[in-house]
Amino acid sequence: MKENIWSKYNDDDIMTLNEICDEYRNFISKSKIEREVVKNSIKMAESVGFVNLNKYIENNIKLTSGDKVYINNRNKSIGLFVIGKEDITKGINILGAHVDSPRLDLKASPLYEDTDMAYLDTHYYGGIKKYQWVTLPLALHGVVVKKNGDVVNVVIGEDESDPVVGITDLLPHLGQEQMKKEASKVIEGEKLDVLIGSMPIKNNSKEEKDLIKKNILNILKNKYDIEEDDFLSAEIEVVPAGHARDFGLDRSMIMAYGQDDKVCAYTSLKAFLDVDNVERTTSCILVDKEEIGSVGSTGMESSFYEDALREICSLLGHDEVTALSRTLSNSFMLSSDVNAAYDPLYSEVMDKRSASYFNNGVVFCKYTGSRGKSGSNDADAEYIAKLRKIMDDNKVNFQISELGKVDAGGGGTIAYILANKNVNVIDCGVGVLSMHAPWEVTAKADIYEAYKCYVAFLKDA
Ligand code: MN
Ligand code: MN
Repeated sequence: MKENIWSKYNDDDIMTLNEICDEYRNFISKSKIEREVVKNSIKMAESVGFVNLNKYIENNIKLTSGDKVYINNRNKSIGLFVIGKEDITKGINILGAHVDSPRLDLKASPLYEDTDMAYLDTHYYGGIKKYQWVTLPLALHGVVVKKNGDVVNVVIGEDESDPVVGITDLLPHLGQEQMKKEASKVIEGEKLDVLIGSMPIKNNSKEEKDLIKKNILNILKNKYDIEEDDFLSAEIEVVPAGHARDFGLDRSMIMAYGQDDKVCAYTSLKAFLDVDNVERTTSCILVDKEEIGSVGSTGMESSFYEDALREICSLLGHDEVTALSRTLSNSFMLSSDVNAAYDPLYSEVMDKRSASYFNNGVVFCKYTGSRGKSGSNDADAEYIAKLRKIMDDNKVNFQISELGKVDAGGGGTIAYILANKNVNVIDCGVGVLSMHAPWEVTAKADIYEAYKCYVAFLKDA
């Protein structure tokens, strides 16, 4: 462990740090799921002059230095670009983060009634400890798309006047057998059903079946104009209800849902929007589906980002077949993703010399993976040397670490995917405590240093 960086800060640092963290707390409270992040990111980008790339493509308008464009991929991932003065085939500077987080998704036919109680059936998404999701106030976020294409946006449980929903657990008095189970089985996946009602509909007919469920359907019809069948074409995510909070009596930390990886997504986006008038083209990618392997059309494995880059090359007059591969191979990327911060309560899985620490700055992670670095992107020493210089020149406090002890476990990020396209990539982000838990904790000083790091990278890489 190096030095706690709070002791290095002057009043100006602390003022900027607090501004950034207040904005972040506000952003993440309103951006709990990937669709909300994308919508709010587009709002922020358009307010400073970004234009949908499709407008350029459809009207065959050439791009020039200083132009700001974005591509919205199915409302779940987004790529943004500021065109630089230098020829694009000399490479671009990319910040990439993911905007999906572990949660519970509603199944396609979720609503059922049992013993005069109405439930929503779920299938968990990403790596969770299932026992953490019971007896919490939960909210419903997402969309219902009707057959005519109308999109109904759903957010229930966030407004102070909204009801919340939740998952019950067994009382300790009757939990003797349950408490003998191993932690992965204490609460099983099929038991993560959300209790949403217990009041029967006013019954005018002789009918007596599923009156609780019918009442819920009645409420959904009146409030959202949704029928039961509409759940077939819906994406509703169950997430912890409530906003992000300052954490600690000294307010040095933030507690929020989904900081993996929205803490890096927000700081990346903010840095990207703040860096103007660039030499090299800069880009920010916010992608979906990292928590389940970056798969599908909205994950990093999708070709959407490369396709956008190819369009941009073409609109800059580079129609030669080599343009895209030259651009990619000359590009630099920070895969901005969170790292497991050292937790003294769980020191047994951490290597003290290679761990990342709260309030020690932004974390670079040369390789992730597990069992002998398997599945990892292993960043080049040459690239790390270049970044060390940029960080030192810009007075960014950073640490280099790996995730946990050798063979204690492991994980992955989107880093390897762009590395496979021959981009220079390293993981770089903010340390998190209680990662993947409903409420994760970060340190404000690390958030501030991540922002500074991303600004320095975009300007100087
Ligand atoms: Mn992550
Ligand atoms: Mn994760």
